[in-house]
Amino acid sequence: MQDRYGRKIEYMRVSVTDRCNLRCIYCMPPEGVQSIAHSQILTFDEIERICRIGAGLGISKIKLTGGEPLARKNLPELLGMIKRLKGIEQVTLTTNGIFLKDNINELVSCGMDGVNISIDTLNEEKYCELTRGGRLNSALEGLEAALAFPELHVKVNCVPMDRTDESDWIGLAELARDGRAEVRFIEMMPVGLGKQFRGRSSDEVLGVLERAFGRAEDYSGQLGNGPASYVQFPGFRARIGFISAVSHQFCDSCNRIRLTSTGVLKPCLQYGGGTDIRGLMRSGAEDAQIKTAMRRAIYRKPARHHFADGEAMTEEEKQSLEKSEMSRIGG
Ligand code: SAM
Ligand code: SF4
Repeated sequence: MQDRYGRKIEYMRVSVTDRCNLRCIYCMPPEGVQSIAHSQILTFDEIERICRIGAGLGISKIKLTGGEPLARKNLPELLGMIKRLKGIEQVTLTTNGIFLKDNINELVSCGMDGVNISIDTLNEEKYCELTRGGRLNSALEGLEAALAFPELHVKVNCVPMDRTDESDWIGLAELARDGRAEVRFIEMMPVGLGKQFRGRSSDEVLGVLERAFGRAEDYSGQLGNGPASYVQFPGFRARIGFISAVSHQFCDSCNRIRLTSTGVLKPCLQYGGGTDIRGLMRSGAEDAQIKTAMRRAIYRKPARHHFADGEAMTEEEKQSLEKSEMSRIGG
């Protein structure tokens, strides 16, 4: 369906848990977040129901995220349940990759179409520091396991920031050279702990990569579901993408909504609140009532975020800013 600004909304990011096995410094506090009781988290049946009703509103692509989605037991089963829904064309996963090797066969056999693996550096020590204890090798084993399935669309996502540097970004970009994985650089958004770190802009990273690999050609074809813009370096078989939410706002073409693990439908990452679909479901609402609530939430999606120009926000927008960590919202 279209929202009130005429944007076609067809993509829903579904957070299946607020828990995570890592504690990335810009996403989770060292002690972790206080876990939400299991009873507050949507069950698989509830998630499937919301996706089915969403499909009736034109949602055709689902991304499972978290927290760490593979920290949730039996995740492949949920992925298969969603993939079988009429109208759902694509189900993908965003993961830190640590548990991927152990789950990849089942995920693929349940119909997973693609996987994004978050790795901010290929330097083992730095990775351990940034993730507060994560083992790079496990994430890389996850990546290799995914790459063993040629039909799977595999992307590596990196959030460049002041704790990483040129060598990290160049090392990651090298993964695209042989064409097995796309590599994407995602600007740090001032959400949750992200506010405390200085992200590096896409233009800055592109400059670094051009000095290392030569002039990049813009790639105008459509890749993926969203706002990434892609370039191609000489001799590289896969593209490098940039998601520049802060420096080059793309709200005009935003096609997504988010469902938190507690069943709140959020039309925009920057603002708190949202529509409590779980409450509706658990109070016995019929599908038609839930569909109306979802339609209303999508229709009222805000025009834009104000990551880069907070001073332009209205008082009402300022009051409604999201205060939760990214792991809780479902990044
Ligand atoms: N645990 C999974 C993972 O790391 O891929 C899925 C959830 S995680 C919140 C999803 C993505 O959000 C990761 O790539 C992470 O780097 C990114 N992220 C977290 N905080 C962010 C922020 N403030 N700005 C931009 N991206 C952020
Ligand atoms: Fe966990 Fe992903 Fe957040 Fe890192 S970015 S703490 S892996 S949810």
